This record gives sequence, C-alpha cells and structure tokens, in this order.
Amino acid sequence: MAYNTQPTASHFVNGTYLEDTDGELIEVVYPATGAVIARVHAATPAVVAAAISSAKAAQKEWATKSGTERGRVLRRAADIMRERNHALSQLETYDTGKPMSETLYVDATSGADALEYFGGLAGALTGEHVNLGGDWGYTVREALGVCVGIGAWNYPTQIACWKGAPALACGNAMIFKPSETTPLCALKVAEILVEAGLPAGLYNVIQGAGAVGAALVTDPDVDKVSLTGSVPTGRKVYAAAADSMKHVTMELGGKSPLIIFDDADLENAVGGAILANFYSSGQVCSNGTRVFVQKGIKEAFLKRLAERLATAKIGDPMDETVNFGPMTSQHQREIVMSYIAKGKEEGARLVFGGAKIEGDGFFIQPTVFADVKDDMVIAREEIFGPVMAVLDFEDEEDVIARANDTEFGLSAGVFTSDLTRGHRVIGLMEAGSCFLNSYNDAPVEMPFGGSKMSGVGRENAKVAIEHYSQVKSVYVRMGDVESPF
Ligand code: NDP
Repeated sequence: MAYNTQPTASHFVNGTYLEDTDGELIEVVYPATGAVIARVHAATPAVVAAAISSAKAAQKEWATKSGTERGRVLRRAADIMRERNHALSQLETYDTGKPMSETLYVDATSGADALEYFGGLAGALTGEHVNLGGDWGYTVREALGVCVGIGAWNYPTQIACWKGAPALACGNAMIFKPSETTPLCALKVAEILVEAGLPAGLYNVIQGAGAVGAALVTDPDVDKVSLTGSVPTGRKVYAAAADSMKHVTMELGGKSPLIIFDDADLENAVGGAILANFYSSGQVCSNGTRVFVQKGIKEAFLKRLAERLATAKIGDPMDETVNFGPMTSQHQREIVMSYIAKGKEEGARLVFGGAKIEGDGFFIQPTVFADVKDDMVIAREEIFGPVMAVLDFEDEEDVIARANDTEFGLSAGVFTSDLTRGHRVIGLMEAGSCFLNSYNDAPVEMPFGGSKMSGVGRENAKVAIEHYSQVKSVYVRMGDVESPF
C-alpha cells in the first residue's frame, strides 16, 4: 500500500475531509527533487470556526467516557499506524525529505508509541482521597477542553501524535495545525484515529501558516496551546495565549552542548556526535550542536569523525540504504548556507563538508567546523541544519560554565567512562532533556522538553498528563457548618 501524496482535501474537520479553495494555496514540495507533490489550501476563517465548533461540541461527551474506553481507541489507532508503517513512512519522507532509513523507524512508530502509551495510561487517571481528620476531600482530574497543537516541519507525524495522544487520553479535543511546509502527515493521523473509533470532532487538522495558528491561539473557545517551534514564535504564541489565560506547552529551539571528555570511548563519542548533529540532516531541536571536546582526545575525535562522515550515503531518500537526506525546504537550506558562510567569515576551521550538493533537491553536505570560539555566531544561534561546531576545553569546571552560557536549555549530553563525573556534570547542566553516553533518544516513557528559553512544560511520559488536565478539589464536611454569624 502507498498513499497518494495529494490528500483527499486540505483539512480534516468533524470526522471527515473538508475543502475550502478560498484559502491561500500551499504547494507541497518534495525536498529531494523540488517537485510539487500536492496542493492544499490554508484554512479560511470559516474552516477555523468549523474546527473549533466541532471540537467544542464533541469534547464534553468524550470527557464523560471512562478512561479505559478512550484509551482503547488510542491503542487501536496505534495498531493501525504500525500496520501502515511503510506507507506512512513514505509519506513522511515526501513531506520532509528525511530518508526512509529514518522514517521507517522513528516517525509513525514513535507516533504509535505515544498513542499506545497514553492509551494505556488513560484508564489509570484518577484523583486522590485526602483525609482531613473527620472531614475529607477528594480531587478529580478533569480535561481542559479544546486544545490546539501547532507543529514544526521536522517531525510532522510524531508531533501530531505527541500532542494528540495525551490530549485525547485526558478527555480533550484537539485541533492540530501542521507547519505549512509539511501539511500531509497529520491528515493521516486524523484519518486513522477516526477509523479506530474516535468520535467526529475530537481530532481536527487544519492547514495554514502563522496567521491560522494565531487565529487558533487567540480564540476564546480554545483552552490550551501546545507549540513546537522556534523561540521567536514561542514568545509570540505564549504572549497571545496569556491574554485569555490559556494553558501552554512550549517545545522550542536549542543550541545544546555535547561534552566529550578524553576518557570517553572514542567510537561511541563520535557516534553520539553524529546522532547529535546529522540525523534528519540536523533538523532536530535537541541537537547537541556545540560539541566540546577535551584537548587530549580532540585530534583523534576529528579524524574518526571525518572518516565516518565520509561513509554517509547521501541521495534519494526513498532508497533505504541512503542515510542522509536533503533539508526540508529551499528556504531552510539558504538559512543553513548563510550560517556556514558566517562560520568561515568568523575564522572557524572548516574540517568537513561546507557546500551545497548540486541538483534539484535541497541537499547540503554534513559540515563540521573545528576551533570554534564561544562567541562566534555559529556557536550561539540555532542553525537547524547539518552543521557541527567543535570547541576545545581543558577542565571540567570551565566546560560546565561554557556549556550553560546560553539562553537555551533544551538538551545536553556527556560522554565519559567516569560515571561519577558523568552524573556530576549532567546534574549541573541547565537543560531539560539530557543524555549520558548517548544522544537524542526520545522514548515516550521519558519526559521531553526544555528549560530556560527552550520551553515550558513537558511532552511524553506521565508528566504530560499534568499539561493536558487540571485538578478539581472538593472539600467534604461531615458535620455541621460553624459560621461566625
Ligand atoms: P516556527 O517557529 O517557524 O513555526 C512553528 C509553527 O508555528 C509552524 O506551524 C508555524 O506556522 C507556526 N506559527 C508561526 N507563527 C505563528 C504565530 N504567530 N502564531 C501561531 N503559530 C505560528 O518553527 P519551524 O517550523 O521553523 O521549526 C523549527 C523550530 O522548531 C526550531 O527552532 C526547532 O528547534 C523547533 N523545534 C522544537 C522541538 C521541541 O520539541 N523542542 C522539536 C522540533 C522543532 P508556519 O511555519 O506554517 O508558518
């Protein structure tokens, strides 16, 4: 089975596909060839209103169902996603350009993991009994209402599920707006949820750019906004949501440190640095793009890194032996190329790659700069592409201070064979999602998210329940009421 890249219609609202050609045309481009593979329309105000009213109408009844019943739907959806993994992975590859060697293993599969995990948790959501010495109280975990999810373009299936699964498990409805660059995959998530038995209106997908996102964020009928995107967008969305006191989750960008001590296993450290910089052609928010390498291991590290990067297979992402694809858009490629130019201009030493790969697709070579200094632009700003900055360090205290000297706080990694030191250093990292002798693992069982400017709230794991529900407390008096008058 393979999906048509042209969807049945642009939006999925109230349990079915919906079209409104009055909305601005969005051409969907396959990043590996530059070919237009689908055309969709941005949501008009009428589509936005239809999505919100259908979500509002469906949510109340959904919240009255038992958690087990809600969870069953999510778990069925997880099974369907796994059965269709190949077709969904192909669509993800068309949407993003990421190679099939990645999408087959991390996109629909991690989406299915989220549906399965939160489907399993749904029946276990309870309040508490509180003994008040005669009187007593209890708490009830309630849904928030209508939740909005706004996604970035790097993981369109995963983001649609990471937001949708906990929202639905807690009894909410969701309206998801994918990035306009990658509008295709979330529609399939919506289709599959309905096939699994989700009542109409509970998971809607509408297309559009920032203006559609902004219309959702400011709507008084929306109770929560979960954004995956950049810090500048996060600032705007958080401020807009604050106006009507909406709950928020912000999964934003980063410039995360990866610290490699000279006692680290060299092959593992190089492998970790590759995963931290070149997976998904570097378009991963948690990437460890500031690689601090202790002086004793530096030359060996750079040599092995170059040898291993030379074996990357770059090319047609549909070829399952290819492991490095294009940037997701022409625009993003230009941004990344401008950072590469900046790195050269600032005097960083280019030790690998650095050029576009000619052709119709948006390919860039995996790129490594060495001798990078802390104040260089390539060491301070999120590039969101395959550009690694290698910085030298000598002692632990110094590297901790430098690693934390950033407004971001999404991730951090440490490679060392001294586990006491490993835990000590990780403990001092100002970051939400950390890795010890590993990098970029994101199992659904672990919380994911950032501190400082990288975000608010967490996705995944049990903690996500806190961000998609609220607690009502009820005081129960067992005797008479004593009042002063
Ligand atoms: P953007 O911040 O540009 O966009 C994110 C989403 O927000 C898009 O759907 C965008 O629409 C929408 N949007 C833009 N402006 C507004 C607005 N004013 N109101 C509401 N919605 C708006 O991010 P990118 O799509 O470029 O993704 C890359 C960024 O995402 C990087 O910074 C990366 O680090 C971060 N990211 C964070 C992750 C995390 O979990 N922490 C994971 C993945 C990525 P459109 O683009 O269609 O205009």
